[in-house]
Amino acid sequence: MLDASTADFRATGISAEVGAGPLDPARAELPDTLLQELARIGPRELLVPIERLDAWRAPLIDILDEVALTALEDKVYVARDETERWPGDFAENPPRLRRYAIADTVILDASTRRHLELHQNSEDRGRSGTLIAELDESSCALGARRLGHWLSYPLLVPAEIEHRLDAVEWLVERDRVRGRLRDAMTKVRDLERLLAKASRPGAVPRDLGLLRNSLQALPDVISALADGAGRSETSANALIEDFAAAALGIPDALSAPSPLPELTQLLEASLIDDPPTIAKGSRGAHETGYIREGYRSDLDSLRESATKGREWIAGLEADERARSGISTLKVRFHPVHGYSLEVGKAHLGKVPEDYERKQTLASVERYTTESLREVESKVMGANERAAKLEREIFESVRVAVCEASEQIRESADRVATLDAIASLAEVARRKRWVRPVVDESELLDIKGGRHPVVETVLGRQGSDGFVPNDARLDPSGQQILLLTGPNMSGKSTYLRQVALIVLMAQMGSFVPAESARVGIVDRVFTRVGASDRLSKGESTFMVEMRETADILRQASRRSLVILDEIGRGTSTFDGLSIAWAVAEYLHDTKGGEARTLFATHYHELVSLSETKSRIRNAHFEVREWNDEVIFLRRLVEGGANRSYGIQVARLAGLPGSVIDRARSILQDLEAGELPGGVAKPRPAAGDGQLMLQLASPRTPKSDAEADLAREMKSLDPNGMTPIDALTWLARQRALLLEVENGGESGGGA
Ligand code: ADP
Repeated sequence: MLDASTADFRATGISAEVGAGPLDPARAELPDTLLQELARIGPRELLVPIERLDAWRAPLIDILDEVALTALEDKVYVARDETERWPGDFAENPPRLRRYAIADTVILDASTRRHLELHQNSEDRGRSGTLIAELDESSCALGARRLGHWLSYPLLVPAEIEHRLDAVEWLVERDRVRGRLRDAMTKVRDLERLLAKASRPGAVPRDLGLLRNSLQALPDVISALADGAGRSETSANALIEDFAAAALGIPDALSAPSPLPELTQLLEASLIDDPPTIAKGSRGAHETGYIREGYRSDLDSLRESATKGREWIAGLEADERARSGISTLKVRFHPVHGYSLEVGKAHLGKVPEDYERKQTLASVERYTTESLREVESKVMGANERAAKLEREIFESVRVAVCEASEQIRESADRVATLDAIASLAEVARRKRWVRPVVDESELLDIKGGRHPVVETVLGRQGSDGFVPNDARLDPSGQQILLLTGPNMSGKSTYLRQVALIVLMAQMGSFVPAESARVGIVDRVFTRVGASDRLSKGESTFMVEMRETADILRQASRRSLVILDEIGRGTSTFDGLSIAWAVAEYLHDTKGGEARTLFATHYHELVSLSETKSRIRNAHFEVREWNDEVIFLRRLVEGGANRSYGIQVARLAGLPGSVIDRARSILQDLEAGELPGGVAKPRPAAGDGQLMLQLASPRTPKSDAEADLAREMKSLDPNGMTPIDALTWLARQRALLLEVENGGESGGGA
């Protein structure tokens, strides 16, 4: 990927995944890992081999918003070696390329990034309500960009994470240093972008002026750090040496930028305080005067003679009025025609003999004189030469900047890191977050965790404040936490909060909790909601199943899996069986025992914990009071016994008569009867079987269901691939529908 505005140029290699996405041939050529990485980068333009354009268009557009696909002919690509082919210009003249490996950072697929609202909210794709908005207290664009990058690429190696956390902690503990540092960095402009501009011949004086101002701020950044190390007297250079010797006891990640004093001096001496932007292509006079007076004597004397000439011309009006006796005579300047003496038609008789006619207008005549012409050409010549000289000087300064670009880039890099860390420290301090312990264990143990964004909205104290909750997951103990309970009780918030705390910890941030221990997570998978892609014309259920298939195929023992209401997009039977089978699969697959949070409204799943030792039940506490539900937002052990759907419906304002009728139907159902004795239900098979009974009375279906039950019992879910399972499921469903449609009018789903 290439960001032309900052000259950030990075590359990674991704090999095709065998067996990826059999549903759609283009997906086989575009492995998930590649699509996910593209989504993470979010490019504006993508170069695609022309012969692939048609096949790839749909999957690429699907995952990338507003991307322009540019097709390149095959002959444009040139082989650099056996493994790499590049568009010609790059192959001949490889730019400064940084390579990275996707496997070095946490893999976040597009739907997970969307569901967790890391960079964009799901409402309007804006920044409000996102995690980055919560974390970003950066002082300059460099830090904001670095922070965004850290959030997109959380780390996998505990030592690297500790390294960042050390630095954050150091600044959390030093309010004054942090304040000075953040203050100093507000004066640093986007050095990377300015450098990229300065390295192009079209650079304008303003770019170098801003670059200079940014360089001028560096010594303050350095001395703020020195202050933190108790070295307020140290000169910048001595400090840099100390930093090099790591003698200051400042965490490594906080390395000071180099100050570049010579270049700063050059820019200070050569450019005026507030240099202009020259509008390119503007006709006529070019902007001048951006080179500082006193910087070059040849420029100064050109300017002086121009000034003298202009002064002479300025005095000319009075002189000529006196000489000619024409009191209304004026000296005019026209950008194309130059200077002239303007006389009204009434006074033509008084025009002196040496006046040379230059221009006739309706009511005035314009003249020049020999001396005016001489002075004018001197002024113009001096101006032109001065402008040319300014451009030459500017160009030499620009070249000096380019020669120092390596050092500037390095300083920019350090400021970016300093600012990102200072921002994390500022937020941690303000919100009283804690330092997480990140290690190689497989544990996830959060005490008193909070959702960083919801907490900000609700506030932390008071009866309506955010209620903290613990989370403990462990592949060899409590691997899967099954959350049941009513809508609105706080399940989704909790699921997201756990995932966010993990990502924050692995990017090196403090976290909203009393304490947190995070055994490294290699991937975060989420399956939450499903309506967001409907606009792209895919069925909700298809999207849901595709995402689920991805999770089951790719989750490892080190992954964190978040499943919210899986199986909701289809009928109750289908949904329940899929949710059931998925939970079993995650539990039983060797090496795939991902730490999992599983929220579901299928209460039947509660009984899974009886046979699957690593599945535990939990729910959010709810109190009933005068027929109302009160959500306590507190997570407690055990499955929920009721879903309180009717109470929630009432809160939502469903008419009283509907609520009353629903209550009485519910009572009938709970007593094992159909409302109003519609049909005689089969004998109750025990708790948790209500749904099965409900759907069973119609006779034509029950044979098919018996067949289904038989076939299902003979299945070995562990031996099936997710695709086998889906195919099987689709076939069974078709059979059932066939029976149903043959018997009566049917659901027609
Ligand atoms: P569910 O997923 O069970 O339907 P949500 O997670 O959407 O519930 O939460 C419902 C509402 O409860 C949200 O508006 C949220 O602001 C609030 N909420 C969730 N968790 C908490 C909490 N721990 N403390 C306070 N309010 C919470």
